Amino acid sequence: MKEIKVLSPAKINLFLKVLSKRKDGYHEIETIFQAIDIHDEVILRERKKGIKIICLKEGVPLGKENLAYRAAEIILKETHLQRGVEIEIKKKIPVAAGLGGGSSNAAAVLVGLKELWSLRNLRKERWQSLAEELGMDVPFFLKGGRALGERRGEELTLLKEWQPFWLTVVIPASKVSTAWVYQSLNLGLTRKRKQTKIIIDDLKTWPGKDWSSVLYNRLEEVTEKRYPHVKRIKERLQALGGIALMSGSGPAVFGVFPERRQAEEAGAIIEEELDSTPEVRQSGVGKGEVYIAKTFSGGARVIQ
Ligand code: ATP
Repeated sequence: MKEIKVLSPAKINLFLKVLSKRKDGYHEIETIFQAIDIHDEVILRERKKGIKIICLKEGVPLGKENLAYRAAEIILKETHLQRGVEIEIKKKIPVAAGLGGGSSNAAAVLVGLKELWSLRNLRKERWQSLAEELGMDVPFFLKGGRALGERRGEELTLLKEWQPFWLTVVIPASKVSTAWVYQSLNLGLTRKRKQTKIIIDDLKTWPGKDWSSVLYNRLEEVTEKRYPHVKRIKERLQALGGIALMSGSGPAVFGVFPERRQAEEAGAIIEEELDSTPEVRQSGVGKGEVYIAKTFSGGARVIQ
């Protein structure tokens, strides 16, 4: 049986500015995506018919609500092929954390099916629009590395010039709905920010620039209000020498460090402290997780 294995990386947002609400319900944003090396593995196996998802991780849907399922469905519809596929997702990316796991898995299925079913006739622009149909973060995972996302996040400009760095990624146990965060955002309160072009330039070099005035996420104000421990974790990462920010709609918080050792030391301290954080204990949903990660220069890609 033919089998394709695809690496499906997570992302963080180094910058996320919300410009306005659009008529289609989405928001107009400017964001800088950065792929990181926390990744799932998506394994595709041929099947006569039907789409079957296998995933042991709690919270990951196994039916049509799974973005990986929808990615396979959209390809079947596009190509009119009479085939099926089994999609096994070995999940390492924390779910509903703001790290883009579902979108990355969808991109991984597109990339994997292209290979499994030898889909040579679909043009590049068509892959982009199928990815957009699946979700506004999906196109980024077809490219990976670092990219500026405009409009709803789907219009991408690949940013090639950047230095790798290390991260401590802290995942408080609370799950956050992206839709809720955007709905709760008060756009009446304007925030003055540096021009995005200047931010992109500032982010080219590391270390050497003061990234604390550069990293920014407009959605923090919403998530932090409801989950104060997100702010507490961010402040702890800063006190430990990192430059910290919430990713996407959260609740994942990351601290940026130039050296692996610094990220690991901060991670070990935070891990211990998570146990004694009152909000975390009171939430009764477990204590959360800490990961040490590095920036990643690719996107979803076939590894076997
Ligand atoms: P968003 O893309 O909404 O910002 P996120 O990056 O914060 O999401 P995901 O891990 O993609 O987080 O999960 C968001 C929700 O998407 C989950 O609660 C889950 O119900 C659903 N979901 C659908 N497909 C997947 C998938 N393949 N992996 C994980 N979650 C998925």
